Amino acid sequence: MAESFDLVIIGGGNAGYIPAIRASQLGMSVALVEKREGGHLGGTCLNVGCIPTKALLQTASMLSDFKNGEEFGIKAGKVEFDYPQVAKRRDAVVNQLRRGVAGLMKKNKVRVYNGVGSFVEPKKVKVALNDGGEEELEGRFVLIASGSEVNTLPGLEIDHEKVISSDDVVTENESVPSSIIILGSGAVGVEFASMFNDFGAEVTIVEVLERIVPLEDPEVSAQLQKEFEGRGIRVLAGTKADIESLDKSGDGVKIKVEGRDGEQTLEAEKLLVAVGRKTAIEELNLDATKVEVSDRGIIQVDEFYRTAEDGVYAAGDVIGGYWLAHAAGHEGIVAVEHMAGEDPMPLDQDMIPRVTFCRPEIASFGLTREQAEEQGYEVKEGKFPFRAIGKALIEGEPNGFVKVVADAETDLILGMHAIGPHVTELIAEGVFAKLVEGTPQEIGMAVHAHPTLAEVMSEAALAVDGHAIHF
Ligand code: FAD
Repeated sequence: MAESFDLVIIGGGNAGYIPAIRASQLGMSVALVEKREGGHLGGTCLNVGCIPTKALLQTASMLSDFKNGEEFGIKAGKVEFDYPQVAKRRDAVVNQLRRGVAGLMKKNKVRVYNGVGSFVEPKKVKVALNDGGEEELEGRFVLIASGSEVNTLPGLEIDHEKVISSDDVVTENESVPSSIIILGSGAVGVEFASMFNDFGAEVTIVEVLERIVPLEDPEVSAQLQKEFEGRGIRVLAGTKADIESLDKSGDGVKIKVEGRDGEQTLEAEKLLVAVGRKTAIEELNLDATKVEVSDRGIIQVDEFYRTAEDGVYAAGDVIGGYWLAHAAGHEGIVAVEHMAGEDPMPLDQDMIPRVTFCRPEIASFGLTREQAEEQGYEVKEGKFPFRAIGKALIEGEPNGFVKVVADAETDLILGMHAIGPHVTELIAEGVFAKLVEGTPQEIGMAVHAHPTLAEVMSEAALAVDGHAIHF
């Protein structure tokens, strides 16, 4: 006999465990199915994504600070890098958070099943338990939150030795490569480029599109390339790797690339494939439902995350959009609030902050000037450099800027684009201002403490009307 719940969730990542808590708050009984070994919840983000990468990047950033300490009057002597300890700390952070999520499930009375979930019928999910055996769960509602997996290019096999993925980087315990070629310059590619460079590796980025971080504002891409090159990272944008030419016969890898500089052969100890992710839908047996999937494997949903199958919702990476942990969690919350008959506000994609934790950090939301103009807006824009912000000089991070894109007719904020110190934190103010339909003038009117990096937000906002004070 199948056990019955108000809600069965497949996948224990942000799009799964977060809505599980919200559903429990709303009085629903919830079953959560997660296949990860050890039953660890938190999905890609906690286990092999956001958290372990940022723990590694924290060490990278500290290492850079120590190496550059003399400017600040600190002579630390010979700085030594102990990678096994770096990995140990990374895992300690991950484990602490895993325990935290497991505790939250208990507190919220969410029943967790460790195994692979698949549809038997639209509202019936079979769990092939990792310990052996099977369970059947019936839900008034089902939420698909099965997320995404590492992707590669046709013909390029990830062998986990010389050709590696992000999963391999965040589970490596012994050492870092002395040289690495990174294919792809999205968030994952540039974060690892920044990290390996700080760890002392020779890094080459190969990006087939014309600029790195190609989804960001063009000036952000240009600034990042300049800073990366200043740090000795080789950036080959507009360059295509010839996958067939990959040669792993020697100690490392060799691969031919062709771009603006003609054809050349790159050599390194390892090749990191960072070309994006694919949705994890193969094991779900969606054929037992009317759920619709695009050619790219994206589950099709409406603004409340309903699929074409009555009572079956989907959220997170599996529905496309921005493949980000905070987007996944918010989507899941909207979905369960809708199931519970609440009146949730659909999520506006233009209010989802996009964050990249390379050095310097990148953060943005909404439209660039070009995108806004294409959509017919009359645009005004303000830009303010960190070099005119006292705290940025104090912190020794004077590079970068914040840009505000606004609608000239209504004064509403259309987007923000930032590169520089702690912009992944600072962007929250812009998102909040957009949520409450604030204007750049209002951000400018809000008193920002001095000296803080946050002053860049008010100055950039004031710059929209030419009223910035310090530049
Ligand atoms: P996932 O986190 O992928 O979770 C899905 C879960 O479902 C998995 O645990 C999987 O095991 C399970 N599952 C799949 N199929 C089944 C099944 N049939 N039965 C049972 N369980 C199943 N985002 C950010 O916002 N900030 C960052 O800094 C950031 N850094 C990242 C760094 C890296 C290297 C990577 C790879 C990603 C990063 N992301 C970051 C993206 C973020 O991790 C994802 O957007 C987020 O994890 C998506 O959550 P999700 O719940 O949709 O899917």
